[in-house]
Amino acid sequence: MNSIFKERKDRLQVFKEYRERLTSKPKNRIENPSTWQCNKCQSEFPYQEIEKNFFVCPHCQHVHALTAIQRIDYLCDKDSFIETFHSVRRLKKSEFPGYEIKIKKLQETTQLSEAVLTGVARIGSYRAALCIMDNRFMMGSMGEVVGEKITRQIEYATRKKLPLIIFSCSGGARMQEGILSLVQMAKTSAALAKHDEEGLLYISYLTHPTTGGVSASFAMLGDIQLSEPQCLIGFAGKRVIQSTVNEKLPDDFQTAEFLEKKGFLDQIVERENMRSTLIQLLKIHERGKK
Ligand SMILES: [Zn+2]
Repeated sequence: MNSIFKERKDRLQVFKEYRERLTSKPKNRIENPSTWQCNKCQSEFPYQEIEKNFFVCPHCQHVHALTAIQRIDYLCDKDSFIETFHSVRRLKKSEFPGYEIKIKKLQETTQLSEAVLTGVARIGSYRAALCIMDNRFMMGSMGEVVGEKITRQIEYATRKKLPLIIFSCSGGARMQEGILSLVQMAKTSAALAKHDEEGLLYISYLTHPTTGGVSASFAMLGDIQLSEPQCLIGFAGKRVIQSTVNEKLPDDFQTAEFLEKKGFLDQIVERENMRSTLIQLLKIHERGKK
């Protein structure tokens, strides 16, 4: 029991150091860190104002990407997040030219070990297992480590009878890892089937963009499918589909708003309502409550 407790404390410490390193870096493109600029309409705002507005531009309403850590701060009860499976690594080095160097650089700039952060936390006092993808890390693409971390987190949720929430944002399967990326689709889906057999709740929360192999596996298997506004969600690109079916596709094709109209999404949730919506859903299902 003591060793488990110690391990948990260590993981919490790792995560805290992580966060400190991350928040010490400037989060915007402008040199003055107290100012923030929208990359859509170029308006400038005090950093604190945009932070209070959940990184949604007050001028053009563009929903800006959140890092995994920022999402945890907005979503979870204070200091309740404990990271899991931090030390998962690839079994073999990739032979793809320049790939290992790229990964190393990204680990330094993002302070993440890979494109997903997994852990357990309390949300409005309800316990939940979380997977949060971060698109700064190779567009949130899914390789061996991402698939393995997500699978282990799903299995953890099944063992502990916890509700699961996965925030997806991904360019799809990571081509540099070839077939090992593609098997992650079947692996994560199989783990979710077991979670489902136990009658546990899985909320899939889509963010911009969710495409390719991720949208074709765990991201679309939620008991409840939520999305942020203005997201691109789809499998193949619009141009590819258009030339295959030889038909003009609607302007809003593959947007969250279009998918909601067609019944693929249950609800588009404004970012300011993310926490309250999830608390409400967890409350209804109760399973995570201690
Ligand atoms: Zn703007």
